[in-house]
Amino acid sequence: MSKQDFVYRGIRPDRKPSRPWASWHNHTGGHPRFSFCPTPGLSIARYRAAFEREPEAWASFAITDHAFSIAIPDPSRSWPHAWYDERATLEGFAASGETARRIEAYLEFGRGFRDGARFFLGMEIEADRAGRLAVPESALGAMDIVIASIHHNPGEPEKWIERHFNQIDRMIALPADIIGHPLRHLRAHSTPEKPLPAELIDETLDRLHRAGMGIEINAHYPQLQDDVALLRGAAARGMVVAFSLDLHYPEEFGNWRYFEDVVELAGVDYGALNLYDPSKRRRRLGA
Ligand SMILES: [Zn+2]
Ligand SMILES: [Zn+2]
Repeated sequence: MSKQDFVYRGIRPDRKPSRPWASWHNHTGGHPRFSFCPTPGLSIARYRAAFEREPEAWASFAITDHAFSIAIPDPSRSWPHAWYDERATLEGFAASGETARRIEAYLEFGRGFRDGARFFLGMEIEADRAGRLAVPESALGAMDIVIASIHHNPGEPEKWIERHFNQIDRMIALPADIIGHPLRHLRAHSTPEKPLPAELIDETLDRLHRAGMGIEINAHYPQLQDDVALLRGAAARGMVVAFSLDLHYPEEFGNWRYFEDVVELAGVDYGALNLYDPSKRRRRLGA
């Protein structure tokens, strides 16, 4: 896919933002590369420019780079899932002190922009095959938001529903606030004409809700037919919702249109949504 494929135009490309949006999950691509997938032009300076270019569209951004690329500075040994089965990789970087240095460097990076109003600092985490994190759990306490995501879903193709729920149950066990793009790994099974089964989305929401985990409406791979049902179900249950561009490329800053479309098509009252609030996380952690 080219970067232009990630530009979302939506049902009304000429629409204006109905409100300034918070995007709770975003990456950076510049030095010192805390995420390997984005392009270098996706710098903090570019995020700052978004407030100037579209002031009516943006309230805040959280930078949530990947825990595994913070812990493993060698891209060939981390992305996309080289580390899942190679615990020795993580253990080697941890034993040498490199992981601790990278975590400190990430916090230092955050001190350059994090202000608790326009900019927040978080991490996108996941578990390896054995259910372990790439960074020590203690590193997450200082974050404004922790997002747990499924990026690797190996197994038998015909067991895709079973594998999905196994993955959801693994995510629930992680110390996270939000599950990121909770249906993206199922997108091959969904089309606008034939969305994911309603029961599958309901059961996913029920499991996350019982665990006190919020959900994300993620614009990086639009899946409108499923995200509309996801938002409707989350709203009905009073679950925490985070809207996220999941920015990988500067070309995606206009994808707030996806949030507008999902809210409009879901027919939910935006003002009544239980939106993600980092101050509640701080209170919960006793910080
Ligand atoms: Zn992700
Ligand atoms: Zn991401």
